[in-house]
Amino acid sequence: SATFQLELAPSLPLHYELGPVLGEGAFSSVYRAKNTKTGQDVAIKIINKLNLSQKQLANISNEIHVMNTLANAGPHPNILRLIEAFDTDLNCFIVLELCDGGEIFNKIIEYTYFSELLSRHVFYQLLDAIRYMHENHIVHRDIKPENLLFKTIPFNVRSEEDAKAALRASDDESKVDEGKFVPGVGGGCIGAIKLADFGLAKQLKYDLLSTKRANNLKTPCGTAGYTAPEVIHCGVDTKKRFKSSTSRSNYYSKAVDIWSLGCFLYTILCGFPPFYDEDHVVLTQKIIKADFVFLEPWWDEVSAEAKDLITRMLIVNPEDRITIEEIYAHPWVAKATAPEAKEY
Ligand code: ADP
Ligand code: MG
Repeated sequence: SATFQLELAPSLPLHYELGPVLGEGAFSSVYRAKNTKTGQDVAIKIINKLNLSQKQLANISNEIHVMNTLANAGPHPNILRLIEAFDTDLNCFIVLELCDGGEIFNKIIEYTYFSELLSRHVFYQLLDAIRYMHENHIVHRDIKPENLLFKTIPFNVRSEEDAKAALRASDDESKVDEGKFVPGVGGGCIGAIKLADFGLAKQLKYDLLSTKRANNLKTPCGTAGYTAPEVIHCGVDTKKRFKSSTSRSNYYSKAVDIWSLGCFLYTILCGFPPFYDEDHVVLTQKIIKADFVFLEPWWDEVSAEAKDLITRMLIVNPEDRITIEEIYAHPWVAKATAPEAKEY
């Protein structure tokens, strides 16, 4: 509201002009904004620090630290870019690259479910973001449709030709000048995917400890059933099992993102998540047993390759779960993306 903006004005650098609200998180509001010096449209995440605990404040600095680490490692086209951050006594302002399309979550609701072609277009970009993060020893731990944002393109990704054009456009901002990529067009189709919300992300140095803390932070099943079974278990016995070797514990942490990615792929292909129950206890039981089915008739038309890939991602034991390199080699990914990838 207007009053809220006036209150913030003294602390927000003057060259940013706030626009409408883009989204709300648990402790934050995200606004569209314009840098009046450069004319650049951005998103600003504003976190009011007044009622936050020390732990919550630590999470914010962690989020900024992780995004900085990833930016310094070299920006990746599928990871939301941090532009700058300001900290005042009252608020923290995180200036981010604007994603005019908003959340993939809303696109699933709009389309009901995605075609395999569109699913692959989205999945491949997310896979690239995760590989890049993992190579930089960062685990996201909160991959879900609400935290996947996108930029729009002015045509439908419904045919092979459209998909190829979309891939070219989404990875090449110079296409803006040719009029093929029109930023700021509302209701457009899915172009570049950007992984966002690094509030729960962790660097793997403190692997065992932080994994345990992760559970306290993120109550099991807090987020729509995308939580991996080992995060729910995460008791003494998991800790013992992986204590001996650091590489193993790293592997275990990264596998958490692969599980969520499996839940994500399942969800976009049919429009509902693999694990769901109103009752959290029942939901937890389903997750720890990987108790899911490809429900008829929704899954009848989906390829056997897609189902096989999902089944390999949703394996309870993180040691047996498919790895990111194996996903790239999987027929559903490799066969179809190879020619498109060349066009990048
Ligand atoms: P939280 O950590 O509080 O969940 P998020 O970073 O996930 O906050 O942002 C909350 C919501 O704000 C997102 O789900 C999305 O709808 C919107 N949002 C965040 N960043 C952007 C952005 N760069 N461009 C457009 N919308 C955004
Ligand atoms: Mg979020």
